[in-house]
Amino acid sequence: MPQRPAKSHRATPHPAASFAAVALAALTTFASPPYTTASDWPLETSLPQSGGVIDIVSPHPLPISPDELTAWVQRAATALTHFYGRYPVKSVTIHFLPSGAAAVGGGVEHNGDRIDIRLGPRTNHDELVADWMLTHEMFHLSQPQLARGYSWMSEGMADYLEPVARVRIGQITEQRFWGDLVEGMPNGLPEPGDRGLDHTHTWGRTYWGGSLFWLLADIRVRQQTHNSKGVRDAARAVLDAGGDGSREWTIEQLVAAYDKGIGVKGVTVFTDLHDEMGAKAVNTDLDALWKSLGVVYTDGKTTFDDTAPLAEIRKGITEREK
Ligand SMILES: [Zn+2]
Repeated sequence: MPQRPAKSHRATPHPAASFAAVALAALTTFASPPYTTASDWPLETSLPQSGGVIDIVSPHPLPISPDELTAWVQRAATALTHFYGRYPVKSVTIHFLPSGAAAVGGGVEHNGDRIDIRLGPRTNHDELVADWMLTHEMFHLSQPQLARGYSWMSEGMADYLEPVARVRIGQITEQRFWGDLVEGMPNGLPEPGDRGLDHTHTWGRTYWGGSLFWLLADIRVRQQTHNSKGVRDAARAVLDAGGDGSREWTIEQLVAAYDKGIGVKGVTVFTDLHDEMGAKAVNTDLDALWKSLGVVYTDGKTTFDDTAPLAEIRKGITEREK
């Protein structure tokens, strides 16, 4: 199932009062967690990564063991280190907080050095193995902050690159990757009155509209470079140019840096797409797009047509890392 709740984003600190209330509620409703004891908490530990270190801070009891917690963090971090060749920032602290809600529910990234993520009392091992949210938040570490109107660029990046990074190391299947896009992408299309991605700040346009921008960018970069480059090259270059989550850039700076990062003269896909989609509603024929990629989705099942014109590009997007 496509899972893109609005509860996963960057910035906007939590009000202290509601945090205290949630923490208290979680503590008092704590039943008898199977794998964890009171002496396990608080937990403070460090997980060294290639190129950086992740500090884990969990001040309150959680319904999973510390080992499960660190294994979850490591799975998410591994997706990032494979994608970028290193962890995107030298240092980040991840705060794990109890939540009165369901399982993994709600993450926020702050300024390239902190992630807050909430776990409800029903969080279990399977939830953590299937989780995408922590990987999503980690991707926010790898892009400069933009002015408020450009959340679609931040969320689209994290929403698109998270499953790309995971499918490329086998954490999800290609069927799951494409099936989720087919199911969710209609949410990203403009509705009547839409004024383009820069000026339409609905949930659908921010998360799925942003994700569609990134998918179209990936396809176009591949079309213009004989499938030798993709958005990963652009994203890596921005990070290598110092463009991580601690920085503040303009949208013009960012799209120009992504284009430069592709490294092929005359290829200006990010700038072009922003010019096209930023200030006006652009409809995308999704059925035609899936057909051209050879993605066949019927009754919840995804299969592939390798005779489709963009089949090689589809394979390039999800290609397994060596
Ligand atoms: Zn986000």
